[in-house]
Amino acid sequence: MTRLFDDSALATVAHILAHGPLSRADTARDLELSPATLTRLVRPLMKSGMITEARSGVSKTGMGRPTQLLAVPPDQHAFIGVNLSGTMIHCVRTDTNAQILSREAVPVKSHDPDECLRQLCTVIRNQIGEGENPRLEGIGISLGGKINASNIKENRFLGWHDVDLHSLSDKIKSSSHPDIEFVNDVTGLTMLEQWFGLGRKCEDFVVTTIGAGIGNGMVHNLRAVRSPLSGLGTTSHIPLAGAHGVCQYGHVGCANGALTLPAVLSRAQAGRAITHRDSAPSSAEELIYLADRGDKSCRRAIMEFTENLAVYVQTVASAALVLDVVLDGEGVCLLESRWADNFDKHLKSYGRPDDPRIKVHRRSGSFDRWAQGAAVAAIVKWLIRAATSSIK
Ligand SMILES: [Zn+2]
Repeated sequence: MTRLFDDSALATVAHILAHGPLSRADTARDLELSPATLTRLVRPLMKSGMITEARSGVSKTGMGRPTQLLAVPPDQHAFIGVNLSGTMIHCVRTDTNAQILSREAVPVKSHDPDECLRQLCTVIRNQIGEGENPRLEGIGISLGGKINASNIKENRFLGWHDVDLHSLSDKIKSSSHPDIEFVNDVTGLTMLEQWFGLGRKCEDFVVTTIGAGIGNGMVHNLRAVRSPLSGLGTTSHIPLAGAHGVCQYGHVGCANGALTLPAVLSRAQAGRAITHRDSAPSSAEELIYLADRGDKSCRRAIMEFTENLAVYVQTVASAALVLDVVLDGEGVCLLESRWADNFDKHLKSYGRPDDPRIKVHRRSGSFDRWAQGAAVAAIVKWLIRAATSSIK
């Protein structure tokens, strides 16, 4: 199996976190380590409490007697994940497995960076105040666009250019002084899948998000692909065969003009406006409702979205050389509509007959998942720091 890290000790603790509880035999086999080497690697990690013997169980092979399984204890450390969009702040407090312990969501009051920072601080402090135990180890903050350390180079949803969030670290005071990690929102969501989602059973896949924008993340050989282009939305404006929408740059038939929720809603509104003056539909839910009530332009918008999304998925999966695609974001709910039943058919519209089939893994589109992704960025940073100091 491919390792999450080159360093054997880090790879061991990372593997146990993502796949545990695991027997020593399974851990050694998965990481291609000798039993003696595993014992040597695990000893300091157990001494520091990073790894514990969780419970009795048997090896994945079902062979041998029950043994003590190794785990990174999920409930002894806490993390905060925050997602900042153009309209909402979603904040979650999680355990070490990114499972949500508590949550809060509030509308963004202002796009002014200083006011936005103040509001972020208040929301984060509310979650810090949820309790001293378990110890808060880190805070992850995710938002769209290009991010360089704490500098937001560009975020079109907030209208930010070169906004530095470094002062946030000083403003958030707590007894534990946790680390703060800033991450692109799609990168965070890709890390959530890599560590605690599809990555548990699949080494190569693409994460596609459809909502106010289009996001694209890649995992190859179990590792999330890092690139200077991360967060730039490089697949947002690729041309899609058969698409007709127009994007903000005037492209005809690009992904942004065909798949983003504002683009899909505006196409339904345009048809409907000929006979109605209600500016509907204004949400994905209303689009589905009106389509079910007989509105032909709404039905057409959903069918067109479905066909275009199938072409997009084929295109990015083929270019990334993967067969598994995670679909997430608030626009994915349109696929639940009965007017989207042509998705699977169109998923192979440009493939050869004998090509292996692309497998699509649909997620809920919940904004809590974006916040969980931010928490994973904090969890990974803590894991590296704590494991490294354990083995020194
Ligand atoms: Zn475009």
